[in-house]
Amino acid sequence: MIPMEGDAPAPGFRVFPSADGSIPAEENAVKPAAPCAFPRRMPLCVEIGMGKGVFLLEMARRHPETAFLGVERYESVLLRAVQKMEALEKEAGAPENLRFFSADASMLPALLGEEKAERIFLNFSDPWPKKRNAKRRLTSPQFLSVYEKILVPGGELVFKTDNTALFEDSLSTLREQPRWEVTAETRDLHGDIRRAAEAGLPAEENVMTEYERRFSNLGNKICRLKAVFR
Ligand code: SAH
Repeated sequence: MIPMEGDAPAPGFRVFPSADGSIPAEENAVKPAAPCAFPRRMPLCVEIGMGKGVFLLEMARRHPETAFLGVERYESVLLRAVQKMEALEKEAGAPENLRFFSADASMLPALLGEEKAERIFLNFSDPWPKKRNAKRRLTSPQFLSVYEKILVPGGELVFKTDNTALFEDSLSTLREQPRWEVTAETRDLHGDIRRAAEAGLPAEENVMTEYERRFSNLGNKICRLKAVFR
């Protein structure tokens, strides 16, 4: 666990929706180490700092055979994702392979117990530019050691941001870690995808996040790195 001075107490564990597909009431907090309650065993991907769930809802729709778990520390933000799931339940049906937790990322090993993830997505994580807050960055050595506990060996971290300082800092942090290997990096993801399409080459999948759309509309280039945990 990563103790952080001055932090508000971590919000309680909560899973959305619950195993029977309903949205649990306030008092039905999920206990640490409770299984993720997916309908069957599937490879698991986790997005940390999922915000309102735009990315995960689309990923879950595109990949029905993968389980997606979103973690977001602010319940008020997560609520927007829950509302989207509720709306989907009333229409076509919400994806059964998608779950949300309101918790700090540092709680993930306790939440997952023996469960391991194949991939962790970090999308547009808070930059924490001041050096004294460096340990709060979701790509700090402290958080990497949290991810080491929940990833399978060979599992992958995929990080997107428009913040070049955070991107470069994250790359050098990962390169200093003996058990992590940076396997891909780009400082212009959308340009790469466009150029591949123009050359008739198959482009890699990229599901846009809410922040990605907002910042690329402002003209910011999107950086992405991939790193494997050995
Ligand atoms: N991924 C979304 C939102 C990015 S904003 C998108 O790309 O559109 C970053 C989000 O990460 C915020 O909602 C913030 O509350 C959350 N966050 C930051 N630190 C966190 C932590 N330690 N644990 C869980 N969530 C965190």
